[in-house]
Amino acid sequence: MNRPYNFSAGPAAMPEEVLQEAAAEMLDWHGSGMGVMEMSHRGKEFGQIAQEAEADLRDLLAVPDHFKLLFMQGGGLAENAIVPLNLSRGETADFVVTGSWSQKSAQEAQRYCTAHVAATAQNTGFTTLVEPKDWLLSAKPAYVHICSNETIHGVEYHTLPDLQALGCDAPLVIDFSSHVASRPVDWTRVGLAFGGAQKNLGPAGLTLVVVRDDLLDRALPICPSAFNFKTVADNQSMFNTPPTYSIYIAGLVFKWLKRQGGIAGIEAQNKAKAELLYQAIDDSALYFNPVEKHCRSRMNVPFFLRDDSLNEAFLAGARSRHLLQLKGHKSVGGMRASIYNALPLEGVQALVSYLRDFEAQHA
Ligand SMILES: *Cc1c(COP(=O)(O)O)cnc(C)c1O
Repeated sequence: MNRPYNFSAGPAAMPEEVLQEAAAEMLDWHGSGMGVMEMSHRGKEFGQIAQEAEADLRDLLAVPDHFKLLFMQGGGLAENAIVPLNLSRGETADFVVTGSWSQKSAQEAQRYCTAHVAATAQNTGFTTLVEPKDWLLSAKPAYVHICSNETIHGVEYHTLPDLQALGCDAPLVIDFSSHVASRPVDWTRVGLAFGGAQKNLGPAGLTLVVVRDDLLDRALPICPSAFNFKTVADNQSMFNTPPTYSIYIAGLVFKWLKRQGGIAGIEAQNKAKAELLYQAIDDSALYFNPVEKHCRSRMNVPFFLRDDSLNEAFLAGARSRHLLQLKGHKSVGGMRASIYNALPLEGVQALVSYLRDFEAQHA
């Protein structure tokens, strides 16, 4: 079967090989007589699945030993509360607002601590980052939060800020939901990273948290036990029933990533895909992307038609060429092509040739 190319921002396209493996194992995982959804999370079969998933991910992302890797639930939005509940001590946390997601994080944190906006790019319509030297950090923030890839506005940090160089010894918190595992992470600059799985790791329902050991033990007393990082870590992410099937599928994705040459291999593919697509947009008279070149996202490419009365025709034509889910987020309009790890180069090539044909037809 020739499947269409799916540019969804999330839940997003999965590697086809992974879907096939999961289908083949649906009724009987490795001769156990059980499908993965039917297994006790405390049994030896699922124990093996969870341990391999964790070890493979730790290896792929080169997570140092002094960080815990937690499989949680609640998604990115729940982490907007869970992180301040665990790290803020009810004091002040700093936020750098570069798009919808970091804005939401600051708003939610305000319920648990004082959320200080150290910088915002709102006056640019979220088309660029704010240079760290221009951030107005508070005197002693409990942590500093950024969204390292803004999924809606298509703005990405290609280098993580170095807080130490700014004279700030607070931990950096990154929401890496939409570019986790697309590129390496410089863990020397990070205290905590979180992300929902449904963009780049696997199915919805699983949330990844990578947290430095020294940050585990400072939760507010009102923090729910199931969301307390130390409790979750002490119980190997099995304080309560984890999202077992999502962990299993993510584990298959991690093995697939290893077959792509790990993070270095997939990053090279992601660069090639993004360059091809941005070049086609920049070369055209019909389409444009408003984001400054130095911080354009490799994963989420918003673009607009200069004549937006053509939007519906563009989307209908795309569907007829088996190019799905290109409609932009409702808050910004236009189009968005999310080109996560699982979207192959051929998919971007097919999109680029459609962009050219549609433009030629409407010139
Ligand atoms: C999708 C997304 C979220 C929200 O995730 P949910 O799982 O829907 O809560 C948060 N942050 C970023 C950067 C995202 O892309």
